[in-house]
Amino acid sequence: MDRETAASWDAGDPLGEFRNRFVCHDDVLYLDGNSLGRLPRATVRQLTRVVTEEWGRGLVRSWVDWIDWGARTGDLLGTRILGARPGEVVLSDSTSVNLYKLASAVLAATPGTIIYDAADFPTNRYLVQGIAEQYGVSCRPMSDVAELESIMDDSVALIVLSLVDFRTGRLLDMNAVNAMARRAGARVLWDLSHAAGLIPVDLAAAGAELAVGCTYKYLNGGPGAPGFLYVRGDLQDRFRPPIQGWYAQRNQFDMGPLFDPVAGIGRYLVGTPPILSLAAVEPGVELCIEAGVEEIRRKSVRLCRLITDLADDWFAGGPLTVASPRDAACRGGHVSLRSREAWRLSQALAGAGVVVDFRPPDCLRLAPSPLYTRFTEVWDAMSCLKDVVDRHTYENYPATPARVT
Ligand SMILES: *Cc1c(COP(=O)(O)O)cnc(C)c1O
Repeated sequence: MDRETAASWDAGDPLGEFRNRFVCHDDVLYLDGNSLGRLPRATVRQLTRVVTEEWGRGLVRSWVDWIDWGARTGDLLGTRILGARPGEVVLSDSTSVNLYKLASAVLAATPGTIIYDAADFPTNRYLVQGIAEQYGVSCRPMSDVAELESIMDDSVALIVLSLVDFRTGRLLDMNAVNAMARRAGARVLWDLSHAAGLIPVDLAAAGAELAVGCTYKYLNGGPGAPGFLYVRGDLQDRFRPPIQGWYAQRNQFDMGPLFDPVAGIGRYLVGTPPILSLAAVEPGVELCIEAGVEEIRRKSVRLCRLITDLADDWFAGGPLTVASPRDAACRGGHVSLRSREAWRLSQALAGAGVVVDFRPPDCLRLAPSPLYTRFTEVWDAMSCLKDVVDRHTYENYPATPARVT
């Protein structure tokens, strides 16, 4: 496998042109799009327009359009990317807050045990622990999703799972888990943070009831962009909104004395949305739709395969091993390489202009986001990693992780 082969794949890449739709600076190789996606050029135009025209000139009058923006972009994302029906997805708050809202709604309606993945993203674990305490139920971490079926019993009300594991990239079979939970009388709340805009997801076909996720990862919505939440249509009015804010209120601007939530997905809204961040989500979602998630996934599989092939070639038996599933059908859009020196390796790579990230205790995450990452970039980043390993340059870096990793 040489660099020329990677270059020939770039030349024939059906998504190759999409890179030009993003702001890209050639001084870094960016393999961290699963943490923060790049800035779409259309977002720069959109924000300029919203700031100068809608805020600058329109002022409070612009709320006529702004008020439903979370629902409009939610529908776009839901119907075109996630396989939901209109009115089932809305943008609001952060993924953490959305997870709190939906898990609480389920627990308030049906108290019972919550099962979660002991390896899940921290916020998900902490939220579940807090909700269990709040509702006086128990929560049970599982160490392997394979044990899910065997630990299910009548007491389980809710299972919280990430479709793609943030550390290893392991991808679950949503259909199978939903079917199993249904048989056991439990609900599943999916976190799609590392899947949305990357993995073809069909919430309706998979029988999904509840989901949340980020828009600033593969959807390129920008730092701190609002998260999304999905509640299947027939369930929306079965739950009470767990946070009673005025954005959930029927005839919101009547400002009536008592809380009376709207029917539908709107009852899961809370307060005034961050319009500038919300405005930035739409162009990223539109780019994904234009490229097609199936095509994005096809390229992602090839990019990740290139990483594992080179890792096998160059590091076999050495200081780095592939921690992600080998089978592409069981893997999301990033590859984790495991090493005792993962932190210092990530720093040495950063010093050489290669942006990846470190996830404790020992994972180096490489995420080639398909809309803007070239095969040659992956090749160059891996070649840089080989150099850092061979020459031991990582030994020049401090062993203690920084505040933000
Ligand atoms: C990135 C990520 C989050 C982030 O949540 P925020 O509320 O946006 O900080 C949550 N869950 C998972 C699984 C993630 O990967």
